[in-house]
Amino acid sequence: MALADDLIREIDGRREDLIALTQDLLRIPTLNPPGENYREICDYLQKRLSRSGFDIELIRAHGTPGDSDRYPRWNIIARRDGDRPGECVHFNSHIDVVDVGHGWTKDPFGGELIDGKIYGRGACDMKGGLAASIVAAEAFLAVCPDFAGAIEISGTADEESGGYGGVAYLAGKGYFSPDRVQHVIIPEPLNKDRICLGHRGVWWAELETFGEIAHGSMPFLGDCAVRHMGAVIDEMEQSLFPALAQKRTEMPVVPEGAKQSTLNINSIHGGQSEGEADFTGLPSPCVPDSCRMVIDRRFLLEENIDDVQAEVLEVLKTVEGRRDKFRYDLRELHRVLPTMTEKDAPVVRTVAKAIAETMGREAEYVVSPGTYDQKHIDRIGKLKNCIAYGPGILDLAHKPDEYVGVDDMLDSAKVMGRSLIELLARPCESSLNKGGSHAFA
Ligand SMILES: [Zn+2]
Repeated sequence: MALADDLIREIDGRREDLIALTQDLLRIPTLNPPGENYREICDYLQKRLSRSGFDIELIRAHGTPGDSDRYPRWNIIARRDGDRPGECVHFNSHIDVVDVGHGWTKDPFGGELIDGKIYGRGACDMKGGLAASIVAAEAFLAVCPDFAGAIEISGTADEESGGYGGVAYLAGKGYFSPDRVQHVIIPEPLNKDRICLGHRGVWWAELETFGEIAHGSMPFLGDCAVRHMGAVIDEMEQSLFPALAQKRTEMPVVPEGAKQSTLNINSIHGGQSEGEADFTGLPSPCVPDSCRMVIDRRFLLEENIDDVQAEVLEVLKTVEGRRDKFRYDLRELHRVLPTMTEKDAPVVRTVAKAIAETMGREAEYVVSPGTYDQKHIDRIGKLKNCIAYGPGILDLAHKPDEYVGVDDMLDSAKVMGRSLIELLARPCESSLNKGGSHAFA
């Protein structure tokens, strides 16, 4: 088809621009925490996208976790309306990156290009995806200026810390409601031939056991909270971990090990807190009267969050039946329900077709082991027609010497551009009118 051929040529012609854009984005260190330079990157994106004819809104998520005058939570939504009514396709990327950590051999904020790879913190997760979506949209506008509907590109804060100052806030203000936006693509690094339909659920809880303080030379006069917690962990090893390993999901979760329920013990603290690094004294002899453990339970679409909680309570009840003076408290810290977009949803079908046309092979469908901003688009925005699709290798995210491949960015920009043609260039034949179910009713 002529339009698609023109688009591919346009995108190939923008290779240098795509590289420069990715490098510019990487050179603005948007570390989160604490949430640095959000305004700077939004200003940069505003300049770029208003030049391409987008209307810009800069939105600060006042009062959300971490928002302050020093570290304001800025977000950008850019929108370009077509000449005719139609559907709106929204590309959502988070602008924050995680801590650099150790082990880098490249400058984490240098954006170096070496052998077709651009290095930097956030290169694959996910400034490369953001750059690819911008170039895809601009190339589409160049070959199809009289399109129907609208294109939106957003850069949002705080995905790495839960998304409350970003997509959750915007969804709460109606920016992701199905009457405004119909298709959402989140260019997270899932590899250029994979469509991510959703993610597992999360339940975080803090569990505390109580004891009684006494002199460490006479522990029989007190009651050791750490030993109580040890009994809890032992019971988990005996009953809970084997049970979780038996729970398999039909969700296409990657990697393979995450196709089951999992539980991580994130932290455990009992007794006296550790001394400051420069404290040279000895600890004092005390029986610990408290021990706290944070657990991170990831659960499946087939599971119910009430059952997930009940399993942990069951462990505690079993231990309580065995041990004298066993007292505990269980507090929920955070919960996210699992989500998975139907395979026949319009955005899934469109992107799958574009992957087959661009890459010459069928798309692979996956589900993420951890959550991302789709949770807020689904639960707060009530918008189901949403996927993650973008360039980059997921395993490199958050690692030293993170990079994104230029060819991968170009290929995924072609997939995004073809998807825009499919959804916006031919409104009469668009996915809405092809029959079949559409998920955003
Ligand atoms: Zn990410």
